[in-house]
Amino acid sequence: MLKGRRAVVTGSTSGIGLGIARSLAAQGASLMLNGFGEAAAIETIRANLAAEFGVEVLFNGADLSKADQCEGLVRDAEARLGGVDILVNNAGIQHVSPVENFPVERWDAVIAVNLSSAFHTIRAALPGMKERGWGRLINIASVHGLVASVNKSAYVAAKHGIIGLTKVVALENAETPVTCNAICPGWVLTPLVQAQIEARAKNEGIPVAQAERDLLMEKQPSGRFTTVDQLGGVTVFLSSDAASNITGTTLPVDGGWLAR
Ligand code: NAD
Repeated sequence: MLKGRRAVVTGSTSGIGLGIARSLAAQGASLMLNGFGEAAAIETIRANLAAEFGVEVLFNGADLSKADQCEGLVRDAEARLGGVDILVNNAGIQHVSPVENFPVERWDAVIAVNLSSAFHTIRAALPGMKERGWGRLINIASVHGLVASVNKSAYVAAKHGIIGLTKVVALENAETPVTCNAICPGWVLTPLVQAQIEARAKNEGIPVAQAERDLLMEKQPSGRFTTVDQLGGVTVFLSSDAASNITGTTLPVDGGWLAR
């Protein structure tokens, strides 16, 4: 379905981004991966994706907390893949602390990676998409873009911000063939969430399995984690022709979290 399309997925060396990259490759899109990690492990991911799906897969290790590197990532994809048709802004970090103790440098880092990077990649990729007459801008926000939880001031602020950015970009480009949407996952069992489960087990002196169950049941009525494959499927849908008049919206994939 996406043969000939070229996709950049930020933060795709792990978790949700890697799942989305796999789903796009499975539909025939060529890929620019991005993210941190050990060089050999990243090369294995890259080579396996290319071999499994028979598509071109490249890697750029831009640090998306830096504006010039966000722009550099898009320029590199344009140069080496020939353009960017699908941009998935997924890279994200978390820090958990009450607001009065929240370290200032952690606030700055979360806002830079989870919010400002999307502004920088979108502004870099948009002109090329409009020129070529097709584009999909997909921002991985969170249920925390629509509701709050305690101790996540920077994350919730950044995720609310990226939903605002999504709406503005959608409106500014509503008459063009470029759409801009946000996906809002609930709990997904990735390294980012595993760290929160382990911290909870330690703080409360309970087994990790119980901390995992408590974390899930507190917010996500289905009692099941959203999977990275499900988020890949939603990304593929937003990249399809069926979604060409869906823009400026937020798609929760949250097991009922927001229905409460
Ligand atoms: P993860 O920690 O597994 O992956 C994060 C990715 O971002 C990694 O590839 C990492 O290398 C990359 N990254 C981090 N800082 C970066 C930087 N400065 N420059 C470039 N890459 C960087 O996390 P995840 O759970 O897969 O989260 C992915 C996205 O989904 C995030 O935006 C997160 O907020 C969002 N999200 C996650 C959940 C969840 O339950 N896991 C829920 C809702 C939203």
